[in-house]
Amino acid sequence: MSAELSEHRNLVGGAAVDAVEGGTRDVLNPASGETIGRVPEGTEADVERAVEAASAAFPAWRAATPGARAQVLLDLADVLEENREELARIESANAGKPIELAREEMPTCVDQLRFFAGAARCLEGRAAGEYMEGYTSMVRREPIGVVGQIAPWNYPLMMAIWKLAPALAAGNTSVLKPSELTPLSTLRFAELVAPVLPDGVLNVITGDGEGVGAGIVRHRGVGLVSLTGDVSTGKEIARVAAESLKRLHLELGGKAPLIVFDDADPKVVAEGIRFAAFWNAGQDCTAGSRVLASAAIHDALLDELVPRVEGIRVGDPGEGESVEMGPVISRRQQERVLGFLERADAAGARILTGGGTGNPAGCFVEPAVVAGVGQEDEIVQREVFGPVVSVQRFDSDEEAIAWANDVDYGLAASVWTRDVGRALNAARLLDFGCVWINEHGPLCSEMPHGGFKQSGYGKDLSTYSLEDYTRVKHVMASLAAPAGG
Ligand code: NAD
Repeated sequence: MSAELSEHRNLVGGAAVDAVEGGTRDVLNPASGETIGRVPEGTEADVERAVEAASAAFPAWRAATPGARAQVLLDLADVLEENREELARIESANAGKPIELAREEMPTCVDQLRFFAGAARCLEGRAAGEYMEGYTSMVRREPIGVVGQIAPWNYPLMMAIWKLAPALAAGNTSVLKPSELTPLSTLRFAELVAPVLPDGVLNVITGDGEGVGAGIVRHRGVGLVSLTGDVSTGKEIARVAAESLKRLHLELGGKAPLIVFDDADPKVVAEGIRFAAFWNAGQDCTAGSRVLASAAIHDALLDELVPRVEGIRVGDPGEGESVEMGPVISRRQQERVLGFLERADAAGARILTGGGTGNPAGCFVEPAVVAGVGQEDEIVQREVFGPVVSVQRFDSDEEAIAWANDVDYGLAASVWTRDVGRALNAARLLDFGCVWINEHGPLCSEMPHGGFKQSGYGKDLSTYSLEDYTRVKHVMASLAAPAGG
């Protein structure tokens, strides 16, 4: 066994435990192909045990004052902050991220925990009052109970925080499953925070989608399932959840357009696309994956964009801090991304740069710009989830908006122009849960993140997310003297 191999156990009911049936899974570094960790491989029996622990913890956690729950979240934030360098290094190795990117995610996670600590104490609702003569009505916002939370591999720890922070703040207890490809940072976080968490409030169990994920969705003791993942996984979960009519919170895929109007500065936009499309190797649900450029600016934009993309330093993040883009997450994902490029090429698109695989030890895809594509093409319609951007030429603002909206997804979009009226009108017409103006990508704890259409429903971040993890109860009291009183 390599000296660098890290071994982890699940967190259930406050204890570090192996999988019930004793299974394990090796975890790889996608940049080198090396095994870097070993984790429990769970089954339905692990789901059973974790839901039991979360159910046992629920009465006391729900009864804790918002202030007491907030203090626990603040403690989690402090632990994360103190251990941010170790967690960033784990994330970088397991997800193939440049270390600087992983480092930047840690203060964001800390801020999100602190935001939800404050939000726990500020739930809002309709005023209590006499809406019917002789009765006082009031609204209680209550936690749902045990929530099942299923995370993806692109921002492993951050997606775990987006889930557990609002859920715990609202008084729920959680059974959280990280992606089987990237469980290391979440398991390490669970080990670090176990001493400051009441037992069973957060349970982390590892395993794949069928063995553990589907078990969480089927379990009758789970009141809500939140998933961040692929659209097809969201649909499958919705089918299974229909059996018990569980509530769902689905953050699914995206196909974000960047609309570039004729008055935008090609240099500024090209710089923006370099980040929007290739940050985290394009494995971002909000990645700017299709540029819609006015015919007046299209060629000038490509002249600025292609050299910038060719200049992105791709490599194994372990080689040093100058690496700007790592591999994609797995061989399967690499083949998937390359398949999109091969089919686009065969269909007559022009691949202006990228698409090679580089160092064969890792799952690399060189960043690609694909021009000469049409609205119906697969590369425009389907989420690639890799370092690929397509560029289309439009003739009018109306055509740009229509094409931008003409996909199954509705997560995020951006508009690039110097004309504020044009930008706000586009923001009004775009069918996306987030619209940026002269920017593409930043998020903040206070504002909601979530999609329309097949990008799912439910919001992450913000008080909207906190509310998604609550249920609303009406309590009505008669003002008449009690009978016989
Ligand atoms: P995925 O759907 O393959 O897996 C996500 C999680 O679901 C994993 O933990 C997996 O084990 C689990 N899972 C798989 N099948 C399951 C099943 N049948 N029942 C229960 N759980 C199951 O997604 P991924 O490949 O890990 O992540 C990439 C996808 O996530 C992309 O489509 C991306 O757009 C999306 N994403 C969306 C957001 C957002 O906020 N909207 C954020 C990040 C990623």
